[in-house]
Amino acid sequence: MKTIGLIGGMSWESTITYYQLLNEKVKDRLGGLHSAKVLLYSVDFFEIEALMSVGKWDEAADLLGGVAARLEQAGADMILICTNTLHKVAPEVQNRISVPLVHIVEAAADALNERGITRVGLLGTRYTMTQEFYRDKLTAQGIEVLIPEGVDIDLVNRVIFEELCLGVVEPASKAEYLRVIDDLKNRGAQGILLGCTELGLIVSQGDVSLPLFDTTVIHAEKAAKIALAD
Ligand code: GLU
Repeated sequence: MKTIGLIGGMSWESTITYYQLLNEKVKDRLGGLHSAKVLLYSVDFFEIEALMSVGKWDEAADLLGGVAARLEQAGADMILICTNTLHKVAPEVQNRISVPLVHIVEAAADALNERGITRVGLLGTRYTMTQEFYRDKLTAQGIEVLIPEGVDIDLVNRVIFEELCLGVVEPASKAEYLRVIDDLKNRGAQGILLGCTELGLIVSQGDVSLPLFDTTVIHAEKAAKIALAD
């Protein structure tokens, strides 16, 4: 079994989910007392958010690249950045390591393609929803991307940083998310991509009629599959 290196803590609320899913996948596959081989470096998200919010992406890239290099040195056979947003600096992080970076958007595109989704509604941070680094990876795979309109971009973003990343799930925010998802459906979305690793905390498949694609689950499943490949 290969060792999975996680750059976590962005936020730690969703890193818990990664750890749980990786172990569950390995147990499902190998049974008994088997569990995943994981190296976790959990950052201080306060420092990362401070860089993102003022556009200091180079510094964020340097910080995460250094963490990736340390994980590789410690024995990781692959690296996962446990957040969608910081995939903005994925190329710089990959440049610092010789093991593969398992890219969350590439994994998401594969999952959407497998289900025949050609037009997806994307929810995530405002960086993820509005910037090209994310959308381009999906459109390159033939997937059209719809995002919320107007003030709903701020709403979705605010709930992530001010509630979910702090472990708070407000019923009123959930109702707003379901309304936004309904809007995306009415505009032609065939599925909803939860493009933020905390969104599985507030929306689940039972809440919506469209197929839901949770990037945390998709990313962890792909890593477990690679770890267990012969
Ligand atoms: N974890 C979130 C994501 O997947 C948001 C927090 C962050 O900016 O890292 O994008």
